[in-house]
Amino acid sequence: MGNNCDYCITAHDSVKEMHSFLRSMGYRHTFFERVKRQGAICYFGEQGRCCTLCPDGPCRIKRRAPKGKCGIDADGLAARNLLRLVNQGGAAYTHDFKTTLKTLKAVAEGKSPFTVKDRKKMIWFAEKLELSTEGTDRQIIGRIAEYLEREFMKDINEPLDIVKKLAPESRVKKWEALGILPGGYIFESHEAGAKVMPNIDTDFMDLSLSALRLGLSAGFLANIATTIIRDIIFGSPDITKGYADIGVLDKDYVNIVVHGHVPWMGSVVARMAKEEKFQKKAKEAGAKGIKVYGSLCTGQEMLQRPEIAKYLDGQVGNWLTQEFVAATGAVDAFLMDKNCAAPGLGDLVQKVKLHTKLIPVSSVVRLRDIPVDQSVIYDPEIVEKQAEKLILLSIEAYKNRRKTYPIHIPDKKTPYIAGFGVESLLNILGGTPDPLLEAIENGAIKGVVGLVSCTTMKNGHGTFTYEFVKELLKRDILVLITGCASSLAQAEGLTNREAVEKFAGEGLKGVCKILDIPPVLNFGSCLDTGRMIHLILALSEYLGVDPSQLPVVAAAPEYYNNDAYIDGLLAVAMGINTYVNPVPPIVGGPALTRLLTRDLEDILGGRFMVEPDPVKAAQMIQEELDRKLN
Ligand code: SF4
Ligand code: SF4
Repeated sequence: MGNNCDYCITAHDSVKEMHSFLRSMGYRHTFFERVKRQGAICYFGEQGRCCTLCPDGPCRIKRRAPKGKCGIDADGLAARNLLRLVNQGGAAYTHDFKTTLKTLKAVAEGKSPFTVKDRKKMIWFAEKLELSTEGTDRQIIGRIAEYLEREFMKDINEPLDIVKKLAPESRVKKWEALGILPGGYIFESHEAGAKVMPNIDTDFMDLSLSALRLGLSAGFLANIATTIIRDIIFGSPDITKGYADIGVLDKDYVNIVVHGHVPWMGSVVARMAKEEKFQKKAKEAGAKGIKVYGSLCTGQEMLQRPEIAKYLDGQVGNWLTQEFVAATGAVDAFLMDKNCAAPGLGDLVQKVKLHTKLIPVSSVVRLRDIPVDQSVIYDPEIVEKQAEKLILLSIEAYKNRRKTYPIHIPDKKTPYIAGFGVESLLNILGGTPDPLLEAIENGAIKGVVGLVSCTTMKNGHGTFTYEFVKELLKRDILVLITGCASSLAQAEGLTNREAVEKFAGEGLKGVCKILDIPPVLNFGSCLDTGRMIHLILALSEYLGVDPSQLPVVAAAPEYYNNDAYIDGLLAVAMGINTYVNPVPPIVGGPALTRLLTRDLEDILGGRFMVEPDPVKAAQMIQEELDRKLN
């Protein structure tokens, strides 16, 4: 991204247009400019060869200084850095789990407006966990909540029961043999947190195994269990349709953006905003009504389920789009739940003097100079009261729109199809996975890539992912997509019917046409990698094989946030080879790199793959899928 080519900076015309608009107003502080000002990236940090853990540092590992001042080598140093990143990511993901648990308990006690929407899934889950399915929905939910809370709090020497209940025996045996069958996340995280202080654990092998334990613990509790619970409460995914990109905004309405990662508050705000009394209040304020838009993974979660998607008026974009969404001047409130409220958003709103209210709805979200008393921290017991307050605050904000600010909304929006999950996919396939498996067997489809990504500034905002996905489709590889990459795919037209003709290879085209699906299937938010694992588990059970034998590769072509480490480690632990980009900060440790990118496959059936070129990466994945099939 060292040149001036706009496409190298972002794949989206809407973002380019908004960037030009901001520059025309003299604002030169977006990520376009910040990346340039940062200049070249430090080679030591990029490779994981830098340590800042004690005041004797920073130490940098180089040829003539192969050890830090304390004596740690490059492998230990890079592995320790990695474990710190993984632990942070796990804390963030399990924060979602904790919020889910709190909601579940409120549902069990009858104190929340949320109810059970997918009873069949609740019974399936309770039976899987060997819990009684006697009694009312609330009683069953109560048992599930108690079970999950116990699991979360287990000590490290008390293996998670949920792992044994949901994973195939072949996997559990491997994890047991390797000593990575984890306990609850709280104490796993505590153990890892102690290990990464200087001079405690400096063995790259043990540090790597600890990272895998965290990946499994957070993965089963946060990604897998949380996804299932959200399906139970919101309903499992089913096909929905809508529009994505900044052009979905409508300047004549009070516009509320539900932004982040956690859909609880956003779903209630979206539903209640449609109520007549609030629409009327908005009209009294001079607007035509109220519209609610999804942003980042909160939006992706909501548009997966028809029950909530019907209240959404579009998806504005992913995490790197947020400054440009605000810059339109048409957003009255951003409701920021946990994750990915970028500091650049607060900076822009303050510097451009926008009327837009930035309101944290999660206990962990803060932006500089945004007063804490402006927060409305999600509480499942009073969520409707909170949603009312948020809607009224948004209407007030609308009244404060600056008359002199030239609202600018790019005329760009693209239709999408969403709502893919195990059940909806099975429905499309006619009740069994056979049509998909046959298409793979007869070579029409070369395999499946489960893709999760944030989008980064390193290779251009979505630019790398866009090129990479197009290459996969050309090669007849079906793509399931989650996370902020889903917004990219929606805005660039990869998730609609037209994409079949435009992007798919001949074999994939034929299958998509018969099944009437796009070549890129939206599986939801980044946490919904749990849904992909659910699909992998279902397929391996159906075929009676270990997941490592399935023609599936995982990919994170623009991972950014630390929770992506959990996704990657979970996939590799499941025996799924996992492509990651940008090249992660492990490559400074040669033995660590060999372990994670080569030897791990002999031990676990899965390894990490790295390749900084999107075309070569797609080719590498095609070869990997061919190898699985032959
Ligand atoms: S912990 Fe060791 S490698 Fe890290 S800064 Fe201190 S002396 Fe240097
Ligand atoms: S995909 Fe990444 S950037 Fe997007 S909401 Fe999830 S963690 Fe944040």
